[in-house]
Amino acid sequence: MNLYEYQAKNLFLQFGLPVLNHRVCSDISEVKNYVADLKTNPPWIVKCQIRSGGRGKSGGVLLVSSIEEVCVFVDKWIGRPLITNQTTIDGEIVNSVLIEPSVNILHELYVSILINRDLSQIVFMASNKGGMNIENLISECPDLLYTHIIDPVYTDVHPYEGRIIARKLGLKGIQILQFAKIYINIIHMFMKKDLMLVEINPLVITDSNQLICLDAKITVDHNALFRQSKLLDLYLETGKINALPVSDPSNISYVSLDGNIGCMVNGAGLAMATMDLMKSLGGFPANFLDIGGDANSDYIVSALKMLFKNMQIKAVFINIFGGIVCCDLIANSIMTALSERVINIPIVVRLAGNNAKLGSNKLINSHYDIIVINDLVGAIQKVIKLVK
Ligand code: GDP
Ligand code: MN
Repeated sequence: MNLYEYQAKNLFLQFGLPVLNHRVCSDISEVKNYVADLKTNPPWIVKCQIRSGGRGKSGGVLLVSSIEEVCVFVDKWIGRPLITNQTTIDGEIVNSVLIEPSVNILHELYVSILINRDLSQIVFMASNKGGMNIENLISECPDLLYTHIIDPVYTDVHPYEGRIIARKLGLKGIQILQFAKIYINIIHMFMKKDLMLVEINPLVITDSNQLICLDAKITVDHNALFRQSKLLDLYLETGKINALPVSDPSNISYVSLDGNIGCMVNGAGLAMATMDLMKSLGGFPANFLDIGGDANSDYIVSALKMLFKNMQIKAVFINIFGGIVCCDLIANSIMTALSERVINIPIVVRLAGNNAKLGSNKLINSHYDIIVINDLVGAIQKVIKLVK
């Protein structure tokens, strides 16, 4: 789960990480007030808010020197997709624009902290060559990235570790102390908030010798949302599509993908097998959704409603193996979800196991337009045909 830059920067503020005073607006009428609120003279920087990076290279970040230019930028982007090398080909709709003072950059650094699955460790990484070309630079010359493993026991982090890294990055004098503070604070934030990734690119040195986080990227571990209710609120506040269902987020396994067939399956193994089969037969799953082996009816209804919210899906495929759960209960839940919302995309259902026949008959005899095919390959072929 990625946060928007402005949400990440607000979290940075809470943990004492240096960010500029910023405002977010989604409408030209707000621009004047917000700019006045900043209490600084132009130039300012305006930045499209999407949950992906690469904005700078795609026109999503601009230096402006008047309120009129801010308005032109806001007018140009709000409601429109921004396509970057990190979004899908359709891009991501811009719902808001961040405005902050522009600073004079002397140097751009790169800092991140993440879980390295190969090492099974939390690693802090930094480079002296931050900025928009970091990915290319590092892939050509990996030595430019300095890596520091965080003590897995996490007794606590120490400023001297930060000072050592700062010196390796070539920082001098007061910059070293500022960097050590950032090092400590970013790790505290990472641990306290159950994050999977924090990336600051660029972390800049300004002409007044201040280190400032100009960009902020945060990925939250959604498995921890049950104990991070404030982060969940942040996400739901703006998560227009592909949002997690509200009923019980701690129970769900949902990953959104690029395809156009919404999938609901019970059991992670069956869900993966279903997606593999769909792909090998020429279809494209829009998501991975495992409702769990013992899903109850409320849960199924909210999971289905969530699928229907995703505007990019052209059909829904439901694949249930009745082990603990009974297929007639699944059938009832599908009908309940449909009774609460008019759906005009095709729905294909495959039921097997406990009460599969009873469930199938319920769906077939209902007044809903549901296609029931209990042969798995046949059912997937049908749904692929329907979206073509
Ligand atoms: P990203 O491309 O999505 O990662 O967006 P960033 O927030 O990193 O912005 C892209 C680039 O804009 C940065 O690498 C900076 O070089 C530049 N930039 C951002 N804020 C400022 C600023 O306040 N002043 C100046 N001069 N450049 C900025
Ligand atoms: Mn950036």
